[in-house]
Amino acid sequence: MLEVKNVTKKYGKNLACDDVSFNLEPGSLTVLLGPNGAGKSTIMKSIIGFLKYNGSITVNGIPNKTPEARRILGYIPEMPSLYPTLTVGEHMEFVARAYKLTNYKERADMLLERFELADKRKKFGDELSKGMQQKLNLCIGLLPDPQILLLDEPLLGLDPHAIKELKNYIEEMRVSGKTLLISTHIIDSVDMLWDRTVIMQNGHVKANVSKTEIEGMGKSLEDLFFEVTEGVDKKAVSDDSADAENQTEA
Ligand code: ADP
Repeated sequence: MLEVKNVTKKYGKNLACDDVSFNLEPGSLTVLLGPNGAGKSTIMKSIIGFLKYNGSITVNGIPNKTPEARRILGYIPEMPSLYPTLTVGEHMEFVARAYKLTNYKERADMLLERFELADKRKKFGDELSKGMQQKLNLCIGLLPDPQILLLDEPLLGLDPHAIKELKNYIEEMRVSGKTLLISTHIIDSVDMLWDRTVIMQNGHVKANVSKTEIEGMGKSLEDLFFEVTEGVDKKAVSDDSADAENQTEA
């Protein structure tokens, strides 16, 4: 289990995360929802160990910044950081070597094939379109196949084929028992299987509920999102059964 406990992160005077706590249950998919600037990327970068913060983050009881925890954790950033002078194939090889992966070639081929980069193997990082860079960013992030994977706004900039492929891939990872945390500010993009949502706003966790709990309340994810981020009258949503029916996710 991944435990985020009382994490506070400031950039200078700007409080990006304020006393953030939540857990990721093994084998579950958690959607981290929130408007732009809510603190989603900051908490992800804290979990992966890129930032200094106050509070504690552990993976199976082990501090997140230890080599042991780092082997279990993976992260796909929103913005690709590719090497302009490495080709697509060399990026995969570079990551494989960095992670000391053996027998990775078949897996690398499968990923490049699924994200339509197989015929771009010899292209350099700076010869790729923005969308292709996003896809290579995904392929290098997925190659090490970590037990816990954090994906920051993974659908942004992808074409419809890649979006479909990534959603399928995410479902396959969930079925195979991976623990996933996926951030997005686009509620409509959350149409894959998911287990729990953590909704953030202004650096705070505003809701942390399971899909089953939301369904039990007769609400859609969108209802809940606006209720907690824009203060839509909870009573009006839950008491008016006709309204509630209309607002239930199709
Ligand atoms: P989200 O991912 O939800 O859009 P972020 O975690 O990127 O939110 O940002 C949370 C807050 O922290 C915002 O107010 C943002 O401007 C600020 N912030 C993020 N990164 C930095 C940084 N490197 N330096 C200063 N402020 C930052």
